[in-house]
Amino acid sequence: MGQRDGRPTDAEVSAGELVSLVCCDLGAIVRGRSLLSGELDGKLGVGWVPANHALTPLGPVAEPNPFGSTGDLRLLPDIDTRVRLDGGGQERPLELLLCDIVETDGRPWECCPRRFLRETLGQLRSALDIHVVASFEHEFQLVGWPTTGCAGGAADRSPPALPFSLEAQRRAEPFATDVMNALVEAGVEPERFFPEYAAHQFEIPVAPAEGLASADRAVILREVVREVARRRGARASFAPLRDPAEAGNGVHIHVDLRDAAGRSMLYDARRPAALSQFGERFAAGILEHARALSALTAPSPISAERLRPHRWSAGAVCLGERNREALLRIPPLISLGGAEEARQLRLEYRGADASANPYLALAAIIRAGLDGLQRELPAPPLLDRDPAQLDGTEAERYGVGGLPASLAESLQALADDDVAAGWMGSLFYDAYVSVKRAEIAGTADMDLEEACARYGEIY
Ligand code: GLU
Ligand code: MG
Repeated sequence: MGQRDGRPTDAEVSAGELVSLVCCDLGAIVRGRSLLSGELDGKLGVGWVPANHALTPLGPVAEPNPFGSTGDLRLLPDIDTRVRLDGGGQERPLELLLCDIVETDGRPWECCPRRFLRETLGQLRSALDIHVVASFEHEFQLVGWPTTGCAGGAADRSPPALPFSLEAQRRAEPFATDVMNALVEAGVEPERFFPEYAAHQFEIPVAPAEGLASADRAVILREVVREVARRRGARASFAPLRDPAEAGNGVHIHVDLRDAAGRSMLYDARRPAALSQFGERFAAGILEHARALSALTAPSPISAERLRPHRWSAGAVCLGERNREALLRIPPLISLGGAEEARQLRLEYRGADASANPYLALAAIIRAGLDGLQRELPAPPLLDRDPAQLDGTEAERYGVGGLPASLAESLQALADDDVAAGWMGSLFYDAYVSVKRAEIAGTADMDLEEACARYGEIY
């Protein structure tokens, strides 16, 4: 990671290395421009174009979009986000810096997702003197990895190794070891590597970080995992659903709230599930805006298919303790080995996937929770069973609702939710909706399998 101030060491600065200045766009695609590292000017950044923010993940620019052909911006690097993975052999190093998108005079651009999260965190701090600690837990699938049985050629005929099996992990070597080391090198603090339920599926939870840094980590993790797979001739796909017959790839967002002294605002040992009244209100806000939130957290045309009951993703809008069908889950508190419970309590939002921009997704979750706090919403019931088995009366008693069945429904829910629709500002909102509508139009002729295959190549 270079020197402690983030600048590259002399040995790393060689005229022949490229450094990429990048941002994560509205479709969660990382885009940017690269320059020779000797040319890097951290105060000036590089040029950028408003209409780049209207590019769809399918390729073409969304038409219509609010930007058109005019305007100029800058990508301004944040030196604290610098990532460098060594090259070696035929490999060139990967060096990147995450950027804010700013006007040419340096003012924040109103459609910059990183700015949106920073401002949201600032709102929470100024309203309640609270800060967010979060982590993004990613699942992905290896495509074209020779020894997992997902490649072309002879190995392809062997069935995938069993879920969670040591066999599955060993077949993924040396990727498994390489990727964990690369993530350490990138400052992402990976915690575990394990095979998941679907074929060739893996999961890498990472340590929590302060709000903005947690979303930076999500962007970096995806790119580092992709890079390590690419270097080995394979592809890592974070697509929400590659095969409708299988489990999907989730991005679970774990949110903790702390006061200025670093104490948990969510924990209260005397209350059900040890969730404080503060935490209940925050959770209630998320559930209240859940349908609108899905337009920002699970926003591809195939995302809703992952969020069906019994995929262990998020089958219904409800709060559950240790319940993997709930949109909002309270993970277990581990008392083993003297672990401190107050540090562990968090809300796990299970309804996100990698087609969501992490800054936008986290900011929207926080804004929804803040609304619940400000309105002092009542505590949501804790659901202790499978939401799909409830009849109508029980569903009402537990406050269980359905998630939108399609991206079009999610966008409608966002438009219908006066509070949520106002979070982004009108230009930002219009740009976002134009990209999403273009994705709906661009996949209208595809059946679900085709759309999953297409999004499997994109993410
Ligand atoms: N694959 C599930 C999802 O799509 C998550 C399974 C789990 O880790 O609980 O969210
Ligand atoms: Mg998982």
